[in-house]
Amino acid sequence: MGRLEGKNCIVTGAAGGIGLETTVLFAREGANVLMSDISGPSLARALAKVKELVPRAEKVETKITDVSNESNVKAMVEHLDSWGGVDVIFNNAGIMHGDDADAIDTPEQIWDLTQAINVKGVWFGSKHAVISMRKHGKKKGSIINTASVVALVGSATPQLAYTASKGAVLAMTRELAMRHAREGFRFNALCPAPLNTPLLQDWLGDDQAKRHRREVHFPTGRFGEAIEQAQAVLFLASDESSFVNGTDFVVDGGMTRCYVTPE
Ligand code: NAD
Repeated sequence: MGRLEGKNCIVTGAAGGIGLETTVLFAREGANVLMSDISGPSLARALAKVKELVPRAEKVETKITDVSNESNVKAMVEHLDSWGGVDVIFNNAGIMHGDDADAIDTPEQIWDLTQAINVKGVWFGSKHAVISMRKHGKKKGSIINTASVVALVGSATPQLAYTASKGAVLAMTRELAMRHAREGFRFNALCPAPLNTPLLQDWLGDDQAKRHRREVHFPTGRFGEAIEQAQAVLFLASDESSFVNGTDFVVDGGMTRCYVTPE
């Protein structure tokens, strides 16, 4: 038996670093997975990858979805009605825009876009997952929302809209966890440290100074890998974490616990 045998799961941002690794693990552990992403071509490539890595996966499907659009999110969740409703949703889609800066220089439209995807997208995903779980009479469910370590520690290299959005995800997830605990629906926030995924690596590019400015804060001396986040998501999605609720689940190689890093 897989750790998610028979569970119906949605992964948003499934074509990206963390989302794809998570989909692969979910499929390996026996889940039925709906991969959703705003980018159709990326989603098609990601699906091909999952089929290559997990050839025995029975049900892995895709749906193009903009998480900032509620009717898109409703349609994504209702796609699982014929499967028996949602058991797990990983609200993971997010952006860190290149023009995001500090209080002075962040353009208002970048602020609004970031909140629309990173915060409203998580709200819509949580809302429609709860509606689906109730509709299908679920006695338990797991909702995992991707925040970030910047929801916990301040960064002198600013991306103010992004930081504010991830703080909102953390607070929202905590309240949702309290509100729905007696229904058996668990909500946890994942807090990844900077990773080797396109989201960060494309932004850092070849700028070694910019890279070092971040790398030096890791006691491990390295960025994290998407698979290391996916392993934590698998735990939070599975019944192994049945008494884990409302947490800020930090997967950061010790970064937020560190004062001075080892040489
Ligand atoms: P990624 O850029 O590799 O993947 C993000 C995916 O989200 C992409 O496939 C993109 O197409 C999709 N997406 C963007 N806008 C969307 C929208 N409106 N609707 C649906 N999908 C949309 O990034 P990743 O590193 O895998 O990040 C996943 C999550 O982890 C994000 O929420 C990010 O903020 C968070 N995170 C990442 C890091 C990091 O260093 N990579 C650190 C902390 C938190």
